[in-house]
Amino acid sequence: MKQIVVISGKGGTGKSVLTASFAALAKNKVMADCDVDAADLHLLLHPSVKERHEFKSGKTAKLDKKLCNRCGKCAVICRFDAIHDDLSIDPVSCEGCGLCSLICPVGAITMKENIAGEWFVSDTKYGPFVHAKLGIAEENSGKLVAKVRQVSKEIAEKKGLNFVIIDGPPGIGCPVIASIAGVDRALIVTEPTLSGLHDAKRVAEVCAHFKVPARLVINKYDLNEDISGEIGLYCADNNIELVGKIPFDRSVVEALVRGRTAVEDASEKVRSAIKDIWQKISI
Ligand code: SF4
Ligand code: SF4
Repeated sequence: MKQIVVISGKGGTGKSVLTASFAALAKNKVMADCDVDAADLHLLLHPSVKERHEFKSGKTAKLDKKLCNRCGKCAVICRFDAIHDDLSIDPVSCEGCGLCSLICPVGAITMKENIAGEWFVSDTKYGPFVHAKLGIAEENSGKLVAKVRQVSKEIAEKKGLNFVIIDGPPGIGCPVIASIAGVDRALIVTEPTLSGLHDAKRVAEVCAHFKVPARLVINKYDLNEDISGEIGLYCADNNIELVGKIPFDRSVVEALVRGRTAVEDASEKVRSAIKDIWQKISI
């Protein structure tokens, strides 16, 4: 079983468009959407949710006003100013350090686990799909990514599947590291702009740091062939295989609007470029 992650140094490069196409092309796989801050793969895979689970992360102080004797010690001790004069606790400001619950002389404060999001196991016409939704303003998306990866790997092992195909988050932060750690290969999707080149370099460095073999795709390469050439030179200089260049074509957007993957519904030249990329990264 191989784990393949599709990543990009920045959002909007077409990473999920490509991942959804791989869902249509790959046989015997489980799909995992690890872009938990802005999950969108479900829009193309049309999942039917079979399991729904709460994702708990971190703690928040809860104050029982019936037990409280209003001594005010907790408000004084809280360095995050989360406890107001009326002894209400602001859940956004509370960092969950637990100090107030230790200092309270009458045990009026308890620490409660936060429900920071949900994760799901779904069926799709392309096979099993593990995905998640992080709550608004919640942190710890790295932990939720790790959960999605763990569950998708368990499904692949249990069903004897050949691939776990992961739609990774954009950027180079904690959730990206959680997405790429321990995978067999990473596919970096970029676009021919200066920021695309810059961000692709940063994420390629992260892959190199974690010793994850990286390959690269240029999406809409013909919008700026000079920068596409620069990206190609960067790949050659850094031992990164350039596995494909996808042309710009309106048929991709039209396919997405119809809720279809590009490899099923876009123009022949786009479909053939994507099939060629999957051929190269799946062997
Ligand atoms: S748990 Fe820590 S941050 Fe939260 S209210 Fe208590 S002292 Fe303040
Ligand atoms: S420390 Fe305990 S008793 Fe004192 S004000 Fe805070 S909650 Fe109430």
